[in-house]
Amino acid sequence: MINFYESTRDANKSVKPSEAIVMGLSDDGGLFVPRNMEDLKINLESMKDLDYKQTAKMILGYFFTDFSETQISQAVDKAYDEKFDNEEIVPLVKVGHEYVMELFHGKTIAFKDIALSILPYLMKTAEKNCASKDGIIILTATSGDTGKAALEGFKDVDGIRIIIFYPKDGVSKVQELQMLTQEGDNTYVVSVEGNFDDAQSAVKEIFNDETLRQQLKEMGLKFSSANSINIGRLVPQITYYFTSYAKLVKQGEITLGEMINFVVPTGNFGNILAGYLAKSMGLPVNKLICAANENNVLHDFISTGVYDINRPFIKTISPSMDILISSNLERLLYFMSGHNTAYISTIMQALKENKRYQVTDQIKAQLDKGFWSGYCNEQDTLQTIKETYDCYGYVLDTHTAVAWKVYQDYKKEFSDATKTVILSTASPFKFTKSVYSAILGDTDEDETLLIDKLATETGLLMPDAIKGLSQKSVLHDRSCRPETMKQEILNILSEDRIC
Ligand SMILES: *Cc1c(COP(=O)(O)O)cnc(C)c1O
Repeated sequence: MINFYESTRDANKSVKPSEAIVMGLSDDGGLFVPRNMEDLKINLESMKDLDYKQTAKMILGYFFTDFSETQISQAVDKAYDEKFDNEEIVPLVKVGHEYVMELFHGKTIAFKDIALSILPYLMKTAEKNCASKDGIIILTATSGDTGKAALEGFKDVDGIRIIIFYPKDGVSKVQELQMLTQEGDNTYVVSVEGNFDDAQSAVKEIFNDETLRQQLKEMGLKFSSANSINIGRLVPQITYYFTSYAKLVKQGEITLGEMINFVVPTGNFGNILAGYLAKSMGLPVNKLICAANENNVLHDFISTGVYDINRPFIKTISPSMDILISSNLERLLYFMSGHNTAYISTIMQALKENKRYQVTDQIKAQLDKGFWSGYCNEQDTLQTIKETYDCYGYVLDTHTAVAWKVYQDYKKEFSDATKTVILSTASPFKFTKSVYSAILGDTDEDETLLIDKLATETGLLMPDAIKGLSQKSVLHDRSCRPETMKQEILNILSEDRIC
């Protein structure tokens, strides 16, 4: 059971689960981590027959120990209802020889829905448990998918306002329209002239701005986060690693206790870290395979032990993975360094100052043992979508295609026969233009017009999430630069409907 969370950068900063969720980020810039993760072990036998909701309740119960059983149960029941268009929530499908874990059956058709459907309930409850009366302002930087999923989750939630910053020209047309047409009196969407890293770094700085924090306090407000830096977002993601494993057992594909691999298309390292936590709790995982796009800083790190962001930021057709500073890696290094918060502080300072750090041999050895990594370029991403469609009639989105290709490379290198699950993080419709051109050839047509065509040509069912998207009214038009994000927040706060 996890009773306390501490900052990755200071072991003296220790808080209860509810506080960690409400705060989002520790005020020293570190991320909250479960202090005694090593003690938490799950009996696989006991969970192999549980469904998605039952598994989620069990896992959340271990991590959020100052929530009552009823509080957790209600949050899970409200989150995983008919908002999902598949009653299994996260189905597992066999495509050729591979197993694909479909994480895109929620409201905004990307994997962020899994955690962001429940985070608003967790946050409201956590606030109650902390007896906090302050209003919450959720500040979130998005590489495209978190934004819409968080807006949907938090829209019209009492006492919470949500401000989303996304990189202008750094998201797909469908992603942008999904955000700009967002309804709800408490939602704000701002485009930033910069990339995701610029927006995420500015958000982190705003969090650590002591003067601003005081100013907000006087207004009866405080910040929190819906990014995967919030532990309340990370923990719900552990669930699907367990349920997918249980499905393989139930279908007779593996025996209980058999090791499997997971391949994860990775950006901010949140999804794959949830897999690492599942493994630490006793899930039989052989390798976690980290798949990157041309922004391959994580691939270089896992293969060399050097994290180096002195490199250009590349805009790709898998924009939700266009990230150079992967926040959750800090949590992994905290665990691998044996909770050495002084060490984490030092390397994070080096990253800030020199844009580079190198981990110890001891950490590198652990990376080699538990992880493998690869990356996939733009051409191969498109080629993979085409081949997978031609061979199996299955349509991959651009992010999942990156994972698929990296796994083929892994198999070639190691001829490892371990059963493997590929995490599919988005519906192909979310990246219609790239997927369409991969399968049917280049086109100049507007992305919104291609949605129908992609459905007709491939026979795929169009998800409700994007039906009529191009006819919806655009309701947001704010924009700023990374340096003026703080001012933009103050502008929003000074508006009538807030104060
Ligand atoms: C966010 C996202 C990713 C990356 O996940 P991380 O947890 O940030 O590593 C991959 N694919 C899609 C479609 C996403 O939305």
